[in-house]
Amino acid sequence: MTSHGKSEAVKPDKKMNGTTRKSNGDRKAACTTPAAGFNHLFGPVPSRRLGRSLGIDLVPFKTCTFDCIYCQLGRTIKKTTERREYVPTREILDELTRCLASPHGAVDFCTLSGSGEPTLHSGLGRIISFIKQKTSIPVAVLTNGSLLSDREVRQDLARADVVLPTLAADSETVFRCVHRPNPSLTFARHLEGLVRFSREYRHHIWLELFLLKGITAMEKNVSRMNLIIKKIRPRKVQLNTASRPPCENFAFPVPFGRLSQLSKRITGNVEIVAENEQQFRPGGRPASGRRIAELILRRPCTVEDVAQGLSVHAAEASKILAGLVGSGRAEVCRRSGKTYFKGTTAA
Ligand code: SF4
Repeated sequence: MTSHGKSEAVKPDKKMNGTTRKSNGDRKAACTTPAAGFNHLFGPVPSRRLGRSLGIDLVPFKTCTFDCIYCQLGRTIKKTTERREYVPTREILDELTRCLASPHGAVDFCTLSGSGEPTLHSGLGRIISFIKQKTSIPVAVLTNGSLLSDREVRQDLARADVVLPTLAADSETVFRCVHRPNPSLTFARHLEGLVRFSREYRHHIWLELFLLKGITAMEKNVSRMNLIIKKIRPRKVQLNTASRPPCENFAFPVPFGRLSQLSKRITGNVEIVAENEQQFRPGGRPASGRRIAELILRRPCTVEDVAQGLSVHAAEASKILAGLVGSGRAEVCRRSGKTYFKGTTAA
């Protein structure tokens, strides 16, 4: 999940859950932007997959079932499959109540994602239900899909409007190499969970097909993955690669032209979500170092990402980012010709 990080702009569907939602404009008018001082909400992040996404972080940095070589958050600190209340559900609900009560921004999705794997949080179902009661903004869950074989996880996800699991392997060997999973997880269990979930879930699955140069970007890999995709039958396949600075420098991105070639081997509604930058017009809202530090801690961003996501002027974003680097709260990384700012754990 980056990756839970493309070439056509990805817009939220107007029809979800079989019912027509408010128009995009209506939905945006009804949403919010978290101010500084929230511990579990961040952004909105300019998401290549979800438009403007209000992030809701359910686990401490970085708690995950996997330790993917392409992860933009760095190495996994706590690798586990244990579901529990990693952060108090009450705190998350309180922050959501405050944030959703004072609308002054524009958000396309409330997205459960952030510092690790959100399905590890045992309050997941309650949190999704709470958001659904409070707002008409669609709820999305970015997940690596590793716990979908667990019936309780599938039940918790049932009320989300869209679930975005990841498929990045075509064999047990590649699964171990790319995801470096908790030892109790296997590729067979991963697939079983994905297929089982796809049969039970009544809303939209947008499957992230994540490819890496030299590992899974060959026809034979993609053909094998396509057999899996045919069983899952997702509403969309979002083809992605390691565009942002990865955990390991041997996780190479697949060039766009190659992604385009490989996309032709995939059945269904395929969109390339790599290398697509959403355009948001800065609204001139004041930025704070803390908000920006919280954002880049969860996702490496360019100056433009920060400016667009937080609706601040690029010059102001640039100045604050330079200050964060100077104080050791951020570091600079180059990737695919772009400059990214990545939060340090000191932020
Ligand atoms: S290590 Fe976890 S958070 Fe990072 S990309 Fe993999 S699944 Fe996502």
